[in-house]
Amino acid sequence: MGTSDRMRRSVRRAALTVLKTAGAFHLVQGSDWRRQRLSILCYHGISLDDEHEWRPYLFICPQQLERRLEILGRGNYAVLPLGEGLQRLYRNDLPERSVVLTFDDGTYDFYSQAYPRLKQSGFPVTVYLTTYYSQLELPVFSLICSYMMWKARGHGKADLKELGVAQAVALDSAEARQRTVDQLVAWADGQDMSGVQKNDIAVRLAQLLNIDYRELVAKRILQLMNRREVQQLANGGVDFQLHTHRHRMPLNEEMFRKEIGENRERISQAAAGARSHFCYPSGAYRPEFLKWLAAEGIVSATTCDTGIATRQTNPLLLPRLVDTSGRSDLEFESWVNGIAHFLSSRKRARLAYVPD
Ligand SMILES: [Zn+2]
Repeated sequence: MGTSDRMRRSVRRAALTVLKTAGAFHLVQGSDWRRQRLSILCYHGISLDDEHEWRPYLFICPQQLERRLEILGRGNYAVLPLGEGLQRLYRNDLPERSVVLTFDDGTYDFYSQAYPRLKQSGFPVTVYLTTYYSQLELPVFSLICSYMMWKARGHGKADLKELGVAQAVALDSAEARQRTVDQLVAWADGQDMSGVQKNDIAVRLAQLLNIDYRELVAKRILQLMNRREVQQLANGGVDFQLHTHRHRMPLNEEMFRKEIGENRERISQAAAGARSHFCYPSGAYRPEFLKWLAAEGIVSATTCDTGIATRQTNPLLLPRLVDTSGRSDLEFESWVNGIAHFLSSRKRARLAYVPD
């Protein structure tokens, strides 16, 4: 983080503390303005071990999730199921302080770390499940490669020529590690490798980096929930929705819809219920996707764009708040109670007012 980013963050924290003390948090969270809005929160993984240190944007530690749930409970937030929250948003009958909890991908840590805590809180939750690796029951290739290289970051240089990486990799450089992962993925895809073949590459990479792959597999690091686990949680009330079969969105309508169809079919094998909600893999979307989603009977789709949903929001382009390791409890509170959105929407309104 640069100096100006650090400074901006300190100023924001100080400003939020002042606003909270002055009662502005209460003012906004109890307002009609907030009651007409739905805050959809987005999580990915809850660390089994040290994943939040590897990818602080993708993973948070279990204690952070506990603190978030505590804030929602203590603040009497109305945590609603996704479908109900959206229906009530567009009908304009949301209760005060409405929030929806969503988790993307469906990693195993949701099963072992998030679910027990959510169950205790009594809050409903939606998991957008991607199904290819759920069936394969092996670590997600690109992620486990990246994680292992990060684990080996103190090991000097690695010679990965036999895996298609020409130059020795300086493991202490985050940039070099990322470049290498991209090369490994391109190399494996270039040979049309299956998931099992890619796993063999990951096994060899672990050997070359001196990492115990079997231990990572046994811990279920960077694996998805398997069918039995999905079934168990679905029976326990978790709502499973669509995220494509292979976590990708082809630019061709037929292929795109096939991704959704396969995803829908695999989820249905483990969980009963309707599947009409979607989350864009990696938060990326294009205008033509909206038509294709509607043709698949999808009624809502969430992005990773930061924001709070209003009745004017296109239901196939719903903004969320992606919660990350770097967000303080105070910042989190300012997002769910609406004040952060309130302040940023005022800014937008002023900009829109400038005549051209
Ligand atoms: Zn995803």
